[in-house]
Parts: sequence; C-alpha cells; structure tokens
Amino acid sequence: MIYDVVVVGAGPAGSTFARVVASGGYKVLLIDGQNPEKPKPCGGLLAPDAQKLFARFDFTLPKEVLADPQIFSVKTADLVTRRVRYYPRYYLNMDRYRFDDFLLSLVPNSVEVVKGRVERAERREDGFRLALSVNGEERVVSAKRIVGADGASSIVRRTFFSRAMMQYVSIQESYPAGEKNPFYSCIFDSETSESCSWMLFKGDVMIYGGAFLPNGCREAFEKQRGRVADFFGVDLSSPVSREACLVMRPRKWRDFVTGSDGVWLIGEAAGFISASSFEGISSAIISGTYLAEAFLKTDKDKRISRIYSRLARPLKRKLWFKIIKHWFMYTPLVRRLIMASGITSIKVEEKKK
Ligand SMILES: Cc1cc2nc3c(=O)[nH]c(=O)nc-3n(C[C@H](O)[C@H](O)[C@H](O)COP(=O)(O)OP(=O)(O)OC[C@H]3O[C@@H](n4cnc5c(N)ncnc54)[C@H](O)[C@@H]3O)c2cc1C
Repeated sequence: MIYDVVVVGAGPAGSTFARVVASGGYKVLLIDGQNPEKPKPCGGLLAPDAQKLFARFDFTLPKEVLADPQIFSVKTADLVTRRVRYYPRYYLNMDRYRFDDFLLSLVPNSVEVVKGRVERAERREDGFRLALSVNGEERVVSAKRIVGADGASSIVRRTFFSRAMMQYVSIQESYPAGEKNPFYSCIFDSETSESCSWMLFKGDVMIYGGAFLPNGCREAFEKQRGRVADFFGVDLSSPVSREACLVMRPRKWRDFVTGSDGVWLIGEAAGFISASSFEGISSAIISGTYLAEAFLKTDKDKRISRIYSRLARPLKRKLWFKIIKHWFMYTPLVRRLIMASGITSIKVEEKKK
C-alpha cells in the first residue's frame, strides 16, 4: 500500500492538517509519536491568535482541556535589576496533553492513525520510504508525499532540508503548588540565560521552567532555580518531575522552511514559532490549515508548494516581527529601559498570603 500522504507528528500542526485534508480524498497516514507517559513540555497557554482560529473554525473547547487558574496578567521580573512589572495578557490556561488529544479526536476516521515514531525517512525513485518503530517493532511504509509536523527536533527537517535552526534546551520542573500561589511569571535573568523562564500553575501543580543555550544548560538551570526560589520566596528544592526538550528560535527569514518536491513542513518543524514568547500553537494550527487548503486546491506537488508558500507569507511576516521584538526584549539594556519606563504595564495589588 502506498499512502498519498504520511504526516509525521500528531501535535496541533499534524492533527489540524489531517483533519482539514481528510475531505480531499487522499489516503492519509498520521503518525502519532506522543508518549502519554512523557507528554511534551509546554506552558499550555492558548494565546489570542489561537483563540481567533478556534472562532474561525467554529470550535468550542471542552472544559476538561482547561487548567486552573485562568490568567489575565503576567508578572515580569528581571532578577538582575530586581524590577517587577505586570502586563495584561489574555491566555487560556490548558492541560497541553488533553488539548493535543482533543485536536486528534477531531481527525475523521478516514485518516489512518498509528502510534509510533519515524526512525528514518528516505527519498526513492517512486516516492518515499519511512521506517517506523511501532510497539518496539519496525514497520516500513511507502508514501507519495511527506508532511513534517514533528516539532522542534523534526526528523523530516533534518533529513530533507539542510537549513538548521538555532535551538534552546527547555527544562521544566513540576512542584506541588503549596500555599503560595504567585502570578504567572515571566522571568529574565541575564546571569544564567539569554532567553526567558516562566512560573505558572496547572491545578495543584506549579511549573517552573526556562530556555537555555544547549552548552551548560543543566548548570545554568540549576543556578537560576536557586535565584528564582530566593526572588519569589518559593521552595524549589523537591521537584516531583523534570522534563526537557528542544525549542526552536527563528532568527532569519530563511529559517522558515515550507518545503517542496513532495516534502512539506508545518508548525514548529517549519520554524513557525514566536522568537519572543515561544508561542507556537497558533502558528502550528494555521500552517497545518494552509497546507491542507493547498492540497484541497490541487494534487500537483509544485502547485501545492506555491500555494502553501503564498498562504504562509503573512504568518512568516508576523513571526519576522517577533524576531525584531526579540531583540528589544532580550537585549538586557533595552529591556531594562522598557521596564523602567513602565510602558503598557498595569498596576497590580498582589494579595497577601
Ligand atoms: C517549554 C515550552 C513551553 C511552551 N509553551 C507554549 C505556550 O504556552 N503556548 C504556545 O502557544 N506555545 C508554547 N510552546 C511552543 C509550542 O509547544 C509549539 O510551538 C507547538 O506545540 C508546535 O506544534 P507542532 O504541532 O508544530 O509540534 P509539537 O507540538 O511539538 O508536536 C510534534 C509531534 O510530533 C511528534 N514527533 C516528533 N518526532 C516524531 C517522530 N520521529 N515520529 C513520530 N512523531 C514524532 C511529537 O511526539 C509530537 O507529538 C512551548 C514550547 C516549549 C518547549
């Protein structure tokens, strides 16, 4: 059997692509590599852009996907200057694993879903061959086309496109939430990371995590954890769990790769993630939709590439501005001036615990 399309990865990008393309009569295989024992580390915050997409698709979100509490502002702290500002934000706080599960549940039965991981992929004269690991056994599948929706460590991007991207290692730990329930916090600490860290709550769990340069990431995380515990007055000595993964940071226009010649990338694999906030769920959903719309217009590979590339241009532009915003936010002197000015911040009276 030769599939018309094999989709690698059933995150927001892959599930969305599979759901939308299903009406096009293609024989689609969706490979779901998620391991429920080790769900993807993620803040699980659904930004307004993603909420707008849900409105566009006339979707509602089951309450089981939401996590307690909902968030209306972010406490931004610079550990070096010890300055704190509050900025209004309108995210939905979610359980990320349940969210992915919900999006996958919307994929029609006409799409074959297999739980497994792609270990290798190669181009052959007659299409593509992929070697999968399914329940510890190897399975080989053939396809006319491949869609890489496999996130930051995309095997599809690595195999078929030479364009490597800058990546951080994201490390997250979970703690019992305890009595003290501070705000959702965005943390800058130029002594330990050129990127940012965060602290947020999901029910009775507190998550502390951050993004670090790969070299020496563990030491940097541990040093920062001590500084965060001290700054916020929280106990970070006994994590219940720790997880790590890569996260992409686009820096140039050409970091965004949509694909060609029978292989396309969507979501974070394509580089579609905000360089300034790591918000990537909305870009994953919208790029998955765009590629599927191209498939629904034509089954000619060259035209699919052209249409998808054109549809994705506004998304690339938006993410390009995030690259510029990144410079303002992550240059310590500039950030300190912005925080000192108080521009766009709000006054908040924190409750005494
Ligand atoms: C710590 C952290 C916090 C974040 N917080 C937020 C946030 O709060 N809000 C937000 O909008 N974005 C956030 N992001 C970014 C967001 O998680 C991603 O940009 C988004 O999930 C991208 O969706 P995707 O479908 O492209 O990829 P992913 O969600 O990464 O999904 C890729 C899927 O492919 C699967 N896969 C990978 N390799 C293979 C393989 N070889 N074979 C088969 N399957 C494979 C994976 O198991 C996964 O299920 C965060 C990222 C990190 C790292």
